[in-house]
Amino acid sequence: MQRRLDAYVEEHNMRRSPTRDLVLAEACKLPQPFAASELIEAAEKQHISMPTVYNVLQLLIKARILLKVNRDSTREHAMYEILAGKSYTIQMYCTRCGRVTPVQSKVLNNAIKAYKFNNFNLQRFSLFVYGECKVCRSYKRLY
Ligand SMILES: [Zn+2]
Repeated sequence: MQRRLDAYVEEHNMRRSPTRDLVLAEACKLPQPFAASELIEAAEKQHISMPTVYNVLQLLIKARILLKVNRDSTREHAMYEILAGKSYTIQMYCTRCGRVTPVQSKVLNNAIKAYKFNNFNLQRFSLFVYGECKVCRSYKRLY
C-alpha cells in the first residue's frame, strides 16, 4: 500500500509526508472495514489530529488505495476499507447503532463468486446487509 501511495504522491508532484504514511500504516493495521473514528483513535496515539486523518482519508480514496464502503451513511458512520488484493467480506450493519458484525458464510461467498456478472470480472467483494442488531431489537422491546 505504501508503494501505491508513494507512486500517487510522485505522480501528483506532492511532497512525501511521514504523517500521511503513518495514517496509512494505522489504517492497514485495523480490522477491515473500519470506521473513521477507529482510525482517529489509533492516529491520536501517534499525535495526529482528526482533521489530518480526514484529509488523508480523502487522499487515499482519490489514490484508489481506500474504498468508502457505505457511501449513503453519515460521515461518523462511514466505513472505509483498504483495497488490497482478493478479499471477500460480508458484514451486517445495524442501522440504529452502526455496529458492524462480520458474517462467515461459505454459502453466500460461493454464491457471489459463482454469479455470472454481465461483462464484469469479479476481483473482490464487500457486502453489507442492513438491519437491526440483537441489542437494538431488545432495547426496542423494553420501551
Ligand atoms: Zn444496533
